[in-house]
Amino acid sequence: MTRIPLIAGNWKMHKTAREGVEAVTALKPLVAAVEGVDIVVCPPFTALADVGRALAGSNIELGAQDMHWEPQGAYTGEISGPMLWDLGCTYVIVGHSERRRYFRETDDDVGRKAVAAFAHELLPIICVGETLGERDAGRTEEVIARQLRWGTAGLDPAVGDRLVVAYEPVWAIGTGRAATGAEANRVSGLIRGWLAERFGEGAQQTRMLYGGSVTPENIGEFITQPEIDGALVGGASLDPPAFAAIVGAAAGGG
Ligand code: PEP
Repeated sequence: MTRIPLIAGNWKMHKTAREGVEAVTALKPLVAAVEGVDIVVCPPFTALADVGRALAGSNIELGAQDMHWEPQGAYTGEISGPMLWDLGCTYVIVGHSERRRYFRETDDDVGRKAVAAFAHELLPIICVGETLGERDAGRTEEVIARQLRWGTAGLDPAVGDRLVVAYEPVWAIGTGRAATGAEANRVSGLIRGWLAERFGEGAQQTRMLYGGSVTPENIGEFITQPEIDGALVGGASLDPPAFAAIVGAAAGGG
């Protein structure tokens, strides 16, 4: 069974609900003819409802950028899995490096979120990646292995085939300095190997995304790698024609 490519756009803290609807209204016709690629946009929480309605009947799915691990409770400011599911989300990003860095999210938190995502019929996109300092210190493998071990610790071994892992070197996010295709492929292969120890054969179906300054110009370098099944796109996902071009490249195999 081949892995279906996945292109997910992380809008981060950009776009009001109205701007989000405008963006997907522009995006929909640009990708309407695309087949064989799962396309996801992850707007801010405040735009999910309106963007979800605007996406109805299209080939674009709705994702969230984060979630809490509890289904409900006294967690002021947080959003739960059932709330996201209720809005039509099918994916949720967990463990993005900006959440780890600015909101002190731990590997353990990420693992709890991943479990909660599956419990509420959401597919988690689990983000892992090393900082520049960790890379320069030769600690890339050690850091990612730890993030992955904790990030998947509570998961049922049967979910390996539905898992999505995004390798996002922190130094490549929003910097315009992407990793090379070969390096991203090497790390993705390592990740798949570690996942195989935990999920067995299912790991062959886990989709591995690359994230970090992906553009229409460089997507081909990543999507043609044997271990890479798509991309998590930040900045370029804010621009419908650029995002559509990335999706189109994934459909054409680069
Ligand atoms: C991201 O936000 O996950 C990301 C990869 O951002 P950018 O594409 O802007 O580097």
